[in-house]
Amino acid sequence: MDNWREQAVALVERSIAPQGIANKNILEAMKAIPRHLFIPPELRAYSYEDIPLPIGEEQTISQPFIVAKMTDLLALEQGDKVLEIGTGSGYQSALLAEMGMKVTTIERIELLALKSREVFRQLSYNNIVSIIGDGREGYSDNAPYQGIIVTAEASKIEDAWLDQLVGRGKLVLPLSTGNGLCRLCVRQKKADENAGYIDTWYDYCRFVPILPGVKK
Ligand code: SAH
Repeated sequence: MDNWREQAVALVERSIAPQGIANKNILEAMKAIPRHLFIPPELRAYSYEDIPLPIGEEQTISQPFIVAKMTDLLALEQGDKVLEIGTGSGYQSALLAEMGMKVTTIERIELLALKSREVFRQLSYNNIVSIIGDGREGYSDNAPYQGIIVTAEASKIEDAWLDQLVGRGKLVLPLSTGNGLCRLCVRQKKADENAGYIDTWYDYCRFVPILPGVKK
């Protein structure tokens, strides 16, 4: 994959920016990440298409546009702490790390977590902490977070996620609408932590579901 940089630039300029992502930090970071390293060898030819792809264990790497969109909705700044539920391939974590966030990411399937760690090491992302565990509980050791992103379909919003956000922090997740679809939701904690939340709704989308427990 000698020309991956050209392909990454083309993906951003032909598919991501035209779909309404204007945040330059996201666009530049996506151009700088070799997405093919997060994809199984036999599917690498499709790495720079704007499509989700299988990564084994019945899981998928999300469509680049959705990754960009959810990152945009998080609206984080360099140095912010972010928690990701559902590491999968590791591409979403890499995007946040490339943008300078301090990333904690949780994956329930050990094999996927180990694979993603290898790619993080290869790309020298020292600002990603990878945890094998049940992301429904969040990760209180590194809390509080400025942002939490859930990259699997959630049937409900867990109290642990809300508890682990700072005031004004944002939870971005695909919330199940009950018919095989979900809808992107941003739940922002009010500045006064006891004053509740503001919910905003965005695109409909499809994600693999959150499952309980850890798979060794
Ligand atoms: N962010 C990923 C998308 C991964 S798909 C990427 O960029 O590639 C969703 C992932 O969530 C899958 O790998 C799945 O195993 C994981 N997952 C599902 N339920 C989980 C849970 N309870 N805790 C942690 N991870 C979970």
